[in-house]
Amino acid sequence: MSSTAAAVAGAAYIVAALLFILSLAGLSKHETAKNGVRFGIIGMALALGATIWVSFQTENPSILGFGLLIAAIVVGAIIGLWRARVVEMTGMPELIALLHSFVGLAAVIVGWNGHLQPPHYTGALADIHHAEVFIGVFIGAVTFTGSIVAFGKLSGRMSSKPLMLPGKNVLNVGALVAFVALTVWYVITPSLVLLIVVTVLALALGWHLVASIGGGDMPVVVSMLNSYSGWAAAAAGFLLNNDLLIVTGALVGSSGAYLSYIMCKAMNRSFISVIAGGFGIAAPKKDGEEETGEHREVSVDDAAAMLKGASSVVITPGYGMAVAQAQYPVAELTQKLRDQGVDVRFGIHPVAGRLPGHMNVLLAEAKVPYDIVLEMDEINDDLAETDVVLVIGANDTINPAAAEDPSSPIAGMPVLRVWEAKNVIVFKRSMAAGYAGVQNPLFFRENASMLFGDAKARVEDILRAL
Ligand code: NDP
Repeated sequence: MSSTAAAVAGAAYIVAALLFILSLAGLSKHETAKNGVRFGIIGMALALGATIWVSFQTENPSILGFGLLIAAIVVGAIIGLWRARVVEMTGMPELIALLHSFVGLAAVIVGWNGHLQPPHYTGALADIHHAEVFIGVFIGAVTFTGSIVAFGKLSGRMSSKPLMLPGKNVLNVGALVAFVALTVWYVITPSLVLLIVVTVLALALGWHLVASIGGGDMPVVVSMLNSYSGWAAAAAGFLLNNDLLIVTGALVGSSGAYLSYIMCKAMNRSFISVIAGGFGIAAPKKDGEEETGEHREVSVDDAAAMLKGASSVVITPGYGMAVAQAQYPVAELTQKLRDQGVDVRFGIHPVAGRLPGHMNVLLAEAKVPYDIVLEMDEINDDLAETDVVLVIGANDTINPAAAEDPSSPIAGMPVLRVWEAKNVIVFKRSMAAGYAGVQNPLFFRENASMLFGDAKARVEDILRAL
């Protein structure tokens, strides 16, 4: 490649990297998020264009190679556009997990390619190359299977309960120690057998790390896998000698790690415990050990009468509202009650639903005014004074076990203290547990009653009864 071509590519990469930084900055606020996405798209188009152009600035450019590259981009873009258009909001988290798995797989393939095409140089530079191959394959394989398990858990194809293998922490630490020893060995004698061993080890470790995490900690795991996929891309960047891939990977890796840290703080979880596959987290209780009792049911007419007589109502939506698409009748109910002089507000848990901000997006879609949609910390102290709380398809985020039972798998997670209200009506279809697989003692409390059925249909029934 000529020095002019290298300079042009370098300049394009710097501009693309700046656009990615602007994109991340934009995505951190509601008002600037759309511009953040635009910067990301322009940066990625520039990066792709520059990479394609630069790879053909050789003495004998391959037409077949060019054709294959363009075909791969077109096929990938068509599949990407189609998935993005058809995905439901409830299916977003698992789609993101699947996309992370592709980054992991790409890093493994790039690493293997680095082994099969050994460098022409020797000495310390070759040692560094071998270390890059080994570390890249390891991070990529952990990301790949970890993301596949996250996809399985988020899409309901796998149980969201944590896998509790005997000696699970010893297994994880053992795998890490073996990885360090194998890396040293591979740098000294780079053999294919060692590469196969580390690939299998990392695939198993990624699987085990995420399988060991309970449903309540999945939001943190998703952002952690986002971070891993960034480091996997950065490792691939070192091998491909591509500065932009290194910068982009490091941006994704560090911002994902910071997001995981913030989420752990908000959820009162230990960051180390979560990235170490649930280190120090107690095994879930077996069926039958959990608090149960008699639950009460309320009829649509009684629920409507309770709402008519209330002066304050708080609605706490959860994943079930998204599944039922109940946000529109909920918005209508809100309007109707407010017209009758009832003070209606929403209490939003930071991880309600299946992606950060899920409930805010749904309520905004249904045109619920922003000023009555409050964060958990803003509403929690008012719940004891509230006449009626309507729990619309929420479960883990309103579970008193998190606050009151230190042996619960979700112990310590901040929740909406809806049980303190005078009356609680829970809209759900059955007595089934929430995503974390933990029974909810709220359902058996004196002040709580269940309104069974699809949330959208039940809210519409109440609207008619009002
Ligand atoms: P949960 O997932 O705990 O519970 C949702 C409830 O909705 C279920 O108990 C279900 O009960 C009910 N439901 C489902 N469909 C319907 C329907 N059509 N009509 C009425 N009810 C329905 O919800 P939360 O929002 O309270 O908690 C979110 C959970 O997801 C947390 O554990 C969180 O950690 C986890 N998570 C969150 C992510 C995020 O970023 N927000 C990402 C990944 C996981 P039934 O089947 O009986 O109807």
